[in-house]
Amino acid sequence: DDSRILTLEVTRFGQDEALVIVRDVTRLHNLEQMRRDFVANVSHELRTPLTVIAGYLETLQASGMAPQKWERPLMQMSEQTVRMTSLVNDLLLLARLETSERDSGRDRVSVRELMERVAGEARSLSGGRHDIAVACEQDNIITGDAGELHSAFANLAFNAVKYSPDGGPIELRWKTDTDGGHFAVKDCGIGIDSLHIPRLTERFYRVDAGRSRESGGTGLGLAIVKHVLLRHSANLSVTSTPGRGSTFTLNFPPQKLTPGSSA
Ligand code: ADP
Repeated sequence: DDSRILTLEVTRFGQDEALVIVRDVTRLHNLEQMRRDFVANVSHELRTPLTVIAGYLETLQASGMAPQKWERPLMQMSEQTVRMTSLVNDLLLLARLETSERDSGRDRVSVRELMERVAGEARSLSGGRHDIAVACEQDNIITGDAGELHSAFANLAFNAVKYSPDGGPIELRWKTDTDGGHFAVKDCGIGIDSLHIPRLTERFYRVDAGRSRESGGTGLGLAIVKHVLLRHSANLSVTSTPGRGSTFTLNFPPQKLTPGSSA
């Protein structure tokens, strides 16, 4: 197949003059495709060995046959296996999301139910250190992919827990206006310096790598959020004050929403 991919850039000068730049990006596009396939294949191939290792580790720990001095190393091995498994799963999910940036799914997802579910999961991650509140004045149905929407909502809520190490209130809020629907997660955590904000959705970008690793982060969460949003014609906005906390908001356009059941 020798079809070409071209980009067109038009700059207008006044009424009747324009500069048109045509670029052939076929090679770039093919390389990008190869990179995605490679990451997806490697991630997929790593899953089986990881499952086997995790399985034997669990058996060994449960058997009580391992010598006492192996208890700690075995525990660390399990923890790292869990970490690696979530990294591999995130890479695979990201590769899948990247292959198509358009429209996902026809699931009808109740925002209120999704928020309650995510709040429950965030509470169990928090282990009682945070006060996690849900404010959803009016339910809406989002048309899209239920699994993808869950991972976008959950990533923001889990980050709010992870990056508020001293505990404190976290609020999940849904509101609608003429621009559409907005899901905001507000925390009173460590906050983010404004110079980092434009880069947060890059793969593996972390403000503080040490802290992120400690909290079990893969550095892929917000990249996944960004791609889920692209596929739902939605976008992300972030406001933050270092030392005070952050608010991450998912903005959905009106055409993705229908009224949900009243409370
Ligand atoms: P990670 O797996 O490292 O949490 P993410 O892609 O989810 O990766 O987030 C990227 C980086 O953005 C994090 O490493 C962290 O530095 C920063 N970040 C994300 N959410 C928050 C938050 N609520 N408060 C402060 N920093 C945050």
